Amino acid sequence: MPTQAELATLADFAKHTARDLGFSACGITDTHIPAETLHQYQAWLDAGYHGEMDYLERNIDKRAEPARLVEGSTRIICVRMDYLPAQVDTLKVLQQGERAYISRYALGRDYHKLIRKRLTQLGQALQQKAADLGFRAFVDSAPVLERPLAQQAGLGWIGKNTLVIHPRAGSLFFLGELFISLPLPIDTPYTREHCGQCDACQRLCPTQAFVAPYVLDARRCISYLTIEYSGSIPLALRPLIGNRIFGCDDCQLVCPWNRFSQPTQETDFSPRHHLDRAHLLDLLAWTQEEFLTRTQGSPIRRAGYRQWQRNLAIALGNAPYHLEIYQALAHQCHQHQEDALLLEHFTWALQQQTNKQATFIEVQAV
Ligand code: SF4
Repeated sequence: MPTQAELATLADFAKHTARDLGFSACGITDTHIPAETLHQYQAWLDAGYHGEMDYLERNIDKRAEPARLVEGSTRIICVRMDYLPAQVDTLKVLQQGERAYISRYALGRDYHKLIRKRLTQLGQALQQKAADLGFRAFVDSAPVLERPLAQQAGLGWIGKNTLVIHPRAGSLFFLGELFISLPLPIDTPYTREHCGQCDACQRLCPTQAFVAPYVLDARRCISYLTIEYSGSIPLALRPLIGNRIFGCDDCQLVCPWNRFSQPTQETDFSPRHHLDRAHLLDLLAWTQEEFLTRTQGSPIRRAGYRQWQRNLAIALGNAPYHLEIYQALAHQCHQHQEDALLLEHFTWALQQQTNKQATFIEVQAV
């Protein structure tokens, strides 16, 4: 077993190496999850706020005791990688109803592989210094309570919007974890809470998905509805979704701390296929084959083509009236006679355009 001094040197080496590998921050914590955190998590599940994400109910023992996930692990190195691409005009796209809004994290390549690969490189670099070290990398891929762990590792506080926030970097970043078997010195948890009296994310969430500060009802969250949920989107929520076809960033965009967000240095996260400003009708014209080709290696693949079309239907129903949109929706209704879910969403969208058409004609006549 290395001495305390050697472990401290190794911890410094890990942090420098993490920086060299493109991580914006790195902290080390132990594998203990506080009872209060687990209690809150269980209460959230019991309330059904996780919707149909049943996997969140499984492996509670491993979430509670991360060491059970990787036998022999004693520390978790938590890392942050910023994802906001430079020069994307986020607010403008949200204001232009005929364009598609895609969550900023999903405009480029999928982050899972990239971060796991870098974490593995970090583990290998550590192994060269300590041959006995065992490690395993995770990015959203296992029952890991990554936000509490990141907070414990000093990467930021958990805001009222339930995301980890750093006062000099906001919250537009990915998290990843490297479980290791060496007891490196741990970092000081981030115990300050800078939300204060602010409640912008709670008030301005388009679907009012926060039932209380720090408590999100995923069933109302646009990210959940457009990415995770494959069923019929509740009618009352459809108009509130606007032009968001894959995810939503509003609780981050309104957060004052995101004035300090750092643009990513990763070219892999740069927008592909002009997805940062695409027109809804252009995306609707994608065939399934085009969808599969253009979303290869992208997080958007997760939604699948059918869900992608469902989301486009809602956004087009919410778009300002335009004859071209009306005609495209009428065509889609005709195309999807055999698919009850899509037919219902396109019919709803067509009805929205029809209602707006009547208003449009009245205004033109005045
Ligand atoms: S918007 Fe305000 S309340 Fe919400 S997470 Fe940011 S600082 Fe906290």
